[in-house]
Amino acid sequence: MIKSINPTNGKTLKIYDAYSEKGIESIINAVDKCWHHWRNTSFLYRAQLMQNLSSLLRSKKEELAHLMALEMGKVKNEGIGEIEKCAWVCDYYAQHAELFLENESIETEAKNSFVSYQPLGTILAVMPWNFPFWQVFRFAAPTIMAGNAAVLKHASNVPGCALAIEELFREAGFSENIFRTLLIASDKVERVIKHPAIKGVSLTGSTPAGKSVAAIAGRELKKCVLELGGSDPYIILEDAHLEVAAQKCAAGRLLNAGQSCIGAKRFIVVENVYAEFLEYFTYEMNNAHFGDPFDDETTMGPLARADLRDELHEQVRTSVEQGAEVILGGEIPLRKGAFYPPTILENVKPGMPAYNEELFGPVASVIKVKNEKQAIHVANDTEFGLGAAVFTSNLKKGENIAEMQLEAGCCFVNDFVKSDPRLPFGGIKESGFGRELSAHGIKEFINVKTVVAK
Ligand code: NAP
Repeated sequence: MIKSINPTNGKTLKIYDAYSEKGIESIINAVDKCWHHWRNTSFLYRAQLMQNLSSLLRSKKEELAHLMALEMGKVKNEGIGEIEKCAWVCDYYAQHAELFLENESIETEAKNSFVSYQPLGTILAVMPWNFPFWQVFRFAAPTIMAGNAAVLKHASNVPGCALAIEELFREAGFSENIFRTLLIASDKVERVIKHPAIKGVSLTGSTPAGKSVAAIAGRELKKCVLELGGSDPYIILEDAHLEVAAQKCAAGRLLNAGQSCIGAKRFIVVENVYAEFLEYFTYEMNNAHFGDPFDDETTMGPLARADLRDELHEQVRTSVEQGAEVILGGEIPLRKGAFYPPTILENVKPGMPAYNEELFGPVASVIKVKNEKQAIHVANDTEFGLGAAVFTSNLKKGENIAEMQLEAGCCFVNDFVKSDPRLPFGGIKESGFGRELSAHGIKEFINVKTVVAK
């Protein structure tokens, strides 16, 4: 049984039957059969379908944003932005896939030698609920344009979104079985990975889920890409434009009610500007208006599930017991729904959940440091390595810190970290491996084939 619950009021939206063993088997076999035809289609044909899909997404953005608001509490306007971004990634790969996967000629003693990029087959996507459309499309657009087929195991709290995505592919004119959703619990993922037709797996989710899937994929010798958790550090240097930095930091922390893997999470501020930055930052965080995701004035909805909200609050409570100080928020509001207020913790120290763990909600950990050197040390003092940012008016210095000194996959100067179809996206350390998006992402589920003709 898979249940979707509206986090704004706790009411059950719909209960779905999980697919049976037989149902799973027959879907995977049908997708595999479809792939054998799809792999031989032209880029032009695939691109036309992908562009149909992007038009369809744009025409249904209101309705799809409504579904996200119901199932996981995303503010309606953010939902519309998410759908537009999905359309963008479809257009992007429709326009660029052929170029990215062109044969590469390499001179050798042979008459002809070249590299060809061939699809692998059916790829399993295990996806999270936080950006229920974007996470799936940023995997699916390149993977399918490359000539693969896909099956999706979405997070159990967004079954409506999972089925809507399958239907969008169908409505755009793709063969019925090029993209299928499996409504299954996570304990069925092993069985899917083991299926001989499954040739790879991409998981976006928490680090424990990633480790579990990677272990299975390793045993089965199947390629995997892992986009996992993060505790992104944002460094505020003495010469930063503090007001702008505070706006960007608050926006990066509160986006999607703080439930973003690349959300700004730890704010590391040099002591000379600490008080001034904190004043601006507190003002910005306090400005958020949390409430019903359907209200136009709301800038932050509830968290996606009540258990996730309780877990976050427990991390805040434990950090406070260990010496952190709450300077904003920090209390569960007395109202229905999985709400949590914008929260700022000061005096955050190593060993506290607010320092060591990922806080997946609107809670900011602020850490005072002596200087730039210590700021970089604290920024890298984490198991994670997804995104990072540095704020400084010296762009050259900022670029050097971003390029050479921060241990993360995506480092930004004077802005919060965002994904973009044109740029590779992914992490290092416990944030995973492999890359999505750009020319790099489309080559993850590919046979890089060497062809030599004497
Ligand atoms: P999650 O609990 O790890 O779930 C993610 C997906 O994995 C869901 O479909 C879940 O299914 C499945 N899953 C969980 N445990 C599994 C297991 N042992 N074996 C196989 N599948 C398993 O994560 P979440 O709470 O949905 O999302 C939040 C996490 O995702 C955060 O840590 C966040 O940072 C990370 N994230 C990372 C990125 C990135 O690009 N790096 C992007 C977004 C989110 P069920 O729902 O059925 O449990």
